[in-house]
Amino acid sequence: MEKGCKYGTHRVIEPKGVLPQAAQKICNDMNIYSNEILIDVQALNIDSASFTQLEQEANGDIEKIKAKILEIVSERGKMQNPVTGSGGMLIGTIAQIGEDLQGRDLKVGDKIASLVSLSLTPLKIEEITDIKCEIDRVEVRAKAILFESGIYAKLPDDMTENLALAALDVAGAPAQAAKLVKPGQSVLVLGAAGKSGMLCCYESMKRVGPTGRVIAMVRKEEQARKLLDWGLCHKAIISDAQKPVDVLNKTLDANNGKEVDISISCVNIPNTEMSCILPVKDEGIVYFFSMATSFTKAALGAEGIGKDVNMIIGNGYTKDHAEITLAELRESETLRKIFEELYV
Ligand code: NAP
Repeated sequence: MEKGCKYGTHRVIEPKGVLPQAAQKICNDMNIYSNEILIDVQALNIDSASFTQLEQEANGDIEKIKAKILEIVSERGKMQNPVTGSGGMLIGTIAQIGEDLQGRDLKVGDKIASLVSLSLTPLKIEEITDIKCEIDRVEVRAKAILFESGIYAKLPDDMTENLALAALDVAGAPAQAAKLVKPGQSVLVLGAAGKSGMLCCYESMKRVGPTGRVIAMVRKEEQARKLLDWGLCHKAIISDAQKPVDVLNKTLDANNGKEVDISISCVNIPNTEMSCILPVKDEGIVYFFSMATSFTKAALGAEGIGKDVNMIIGNGYTKDHAEITLAELRESETLRKIFEELYV
């Protein structure tokens, strides 16, 4: 077996010289190199920003969404939405392990979730067997390849696959919240009723302690009521993340007239940068987990209002992100129930 590049550059077809994520097209030949892992894929969890875009473009027509996914994968060799640039993750079974990776704690037949984006993962789909729009899930008969640098999580045996997958899909967000949020701080979570939003609320509640304040920003009255009932926030505000002044005013009302220390963006639509930046105090932190975030809009927008805030790009990976996220589901019966109801 030939050995490939640790980061998968040997599979980049065009443009040459870039890494697989940035490539327009990668090679999805399923004969593996000695430092690759072959996976029999069972399901793709399409990133929320990507799935929302595909659904809108197809006017909710499942057959059109299927056709678009097949078209993207056959053109690019990977499931990377050309509009959002984002991917998602997969679950599957290890089918083959290259000889250079034999020492790993992994064997053929193990069930795993990939923790690197589909936007860089070589993928070949034989058939899309079902699409579950409510949970952005695409069930497939397919094969995929993990590079040597590709991270994955073995699926735990104390929860269902779908539950683990739902949480691992957004594992970067709560794990970052765990590292960023400090006791006594005020935190605004935008898109708080979504998957990453609820996990971030939970983690923030835990980290701010009794003297802090977590404010959940949602679109609907019912979402606000539920988040309060579940104890996932101290205050809930109802607004539209595309209306920054309204978000600012309602945040100030909910935070004794003060700007917050940290905002976390968990929305799945574009043009929300200023709603995340405006309510944060100088030298505070804005954590953009949303894939629909524009660097240009955030950078120029912050400059335009003279805000000296630290803006963090939501790296999907942070150390121990899978463990931190699965731990939330183990320690909170409420969160686990909500996730089982909504995403399984
Ligand atoms: P989700 O479950 O679909 O949640 C998105 C939330 O945003 C929903 O609650 C939705 O409200 C809310 N929302 C939509 N439009 C809004 C508006 N105008 N104002 C206020 N709220 C609005 O999504 P998710 O899975 O948590 O993902 C969230 C984001 O993270 C997505 O952009 C996704 O692509 C991104 N992501 C990033 C990474 C990374 O590595 N950085 C990894 C995975 C996902 P409704 O419930 O009312 O529709």
